[in-house]
Amino acid sequence: MDDTLITAAAATGLPVLPRRGGGAVLPSARAWADPARPRLVLADPATEAPRALLPLSRAAEVERAVARARGAIGQGDRAAILERLIAEIGARREEMAQAISRDMGSPIDFAREKQVEAACDHLRATLNALRAMSDRDEIAPGGHEVHHVPAGVAALITPWNWPLNQVALKVGGALAAGCAMILKPSELSTSAALIFADCMEAAGAPEGLFTLLAGDGETGRLLAAHPGIDIVSFTGSTSVGRGIAAAAGANLVPALLELGGKSANLLFADCDLALAVRQGVAHCFRNSGQSCNAASRMLVAREVYDAAVELAAEEAASWVMGAPATRGGHLGPLVSQAQYDRVQAHIEAALEDGARLVSGGPGRAEGFERGWYPRPTVFADVAPGMRLFREEVFGPVLSITPFEDEAEAVRLANEGEYGLAGYLQTADPARQRRVAQGLRVGMVQINGRSRAEGAPFGGVRQSGYGREAGIWGIRAFQVVKSVSGLDPL
Ligand code: NAD
Repeated sequence: MDDTLITAAAATGLPVLPRRGGGAVLPSARAWADPARPRLVLADPATEAPRALLPLSRAAEVERAVARARGAIGQGDRAAILERLIAEIGARREEMAQAISRDMGSPIDFAREKQVEAACDHLRATLNALRAMSDRDEIAPGGHEVHHVPAGVAALITPWNWPLNQVALKVGGALAAGCAMILKPSELSTSAALIFADCMEAAGAPEGLFTLLAGDGETGRLLAAHPGIDIVSFTGSTSVGRGIAAAAGANLVPALLELGGKSANLLFADCDLALAVRQGVAHCFRNSGQSCNAASRMLVAREVYDAAVELAAEEAASWVMGAPATRGGHLGPLVSQAQYDRVQAHIEAALEDGARLVSGGPGRAEGFERGWYPRPTVFADVAPGMRLFREEVFGPVLSITPFEDEAEAVRLANEGEYGLAGYLQTADPARQRRVAQGLRVGMVQINGRSRAEGAPFGGVRQSGYGREAGIWGIRAFQVVKSVSGLDPL
């Protein structure tokens, strides 16, 4: 944390981010307004101008949050709170979308139609799963049962790229499981989480069941390591995830980790090539490439490789950058200077490694002199030894690689250290099953069909462990208790 930056900016009279959520939010109202408190300067991704200050929680707030939560485990009618929460968010959709668009630069229509709607869908799926499941399973006649009990106090640490969606996945699952929750949203996207905290209050969450801890990485580090936490759920970078797993391990509590990815999209010659390439490019570029499950590595059968590269270059050229507040289907800027610099470094590395640039390239998108707008970029002939083949870019940069046969396609897809998602385009039902089985990933999607409601979300290997959404997202926050010898009531 750069304290100089905080002090200098505080003196410029930037507004403090509006605090909402009442007593469920820390720092407290007084500390929030205190200029002596550490504050982070938030910048506008579209103009780079400083726009607001975010007060940061430190050890005292973490202590308070844990103390609040300890008494609230298992409190409240979970289904009723969840149902009211969905209604509250529904009523504040537009406010949420505006907050997301302002914080992370998401184009407003994308924020409305995807960012907010995905969160609402997940909460509804969680409610449906909760209603369909039981906290008790009989495992043998004669009073032998397994009880699913809340893990306890859950620390939920989320990133900025799908700011409401990730909050909804974690809070939905933990709430339905009966946990008390402490949410530490990303410092770059706290506005939507503050409105969410307001919705939790309005939904009637009992005192301490939900606390929003505003803060940065240091806040997250203090929270994850606190001995009063019973389970940690984290979405973000693999490097931070590793530290969180170590902190949870030191306390011998579980960690659920949803980390990075470099997901392969396998295009076989029998697919509808034009459609597959169009959808594939979209699946890489959407949200300006800032999605953990982005289909960022396109692997194409040699017979149709040249045609696919040509189609991808044409398709990429049709994707334009635009301002977050402007309506339409364009891409928005990246979230931060750091993210912009990282994407540029990946593009430079691909050029150095000898990948063939077929669309876009280094530098700012045409027409922009300010703002973190990269050029939507496609590289062909990306060999497995190149950095672009293995490293997550988290920007609109697609890599394309040919394969000779099915065995090589699966081998290439499984290269690298990640294992989040795999995408498969083929009309052959037998191949669909073989390849789905061969991919070392947590999720496989075939021919552009979305996951079903409540389907588990998560990965393997360096993409983390643990699952979110639906019944799996609830069970992840529970522990099983074996009870034997119950007499009939
Ligand atoms: P990050 O991992 O640094 O931050 C994610 C969250 O963790 C934030 O809330 C942050 O405040 C918190 N955090 C940071 N350091 C922490 C620490 N030491 N202990 C506990 N919490 C900590 O991610 P980022 O900086 O937002 O993005 C960097 C990279 O992470 C991206 O380029 C991308 O590769 C990856 N990422 C992946 C996902 C995903 O969905 N899998 C989401 C966001 C970012």
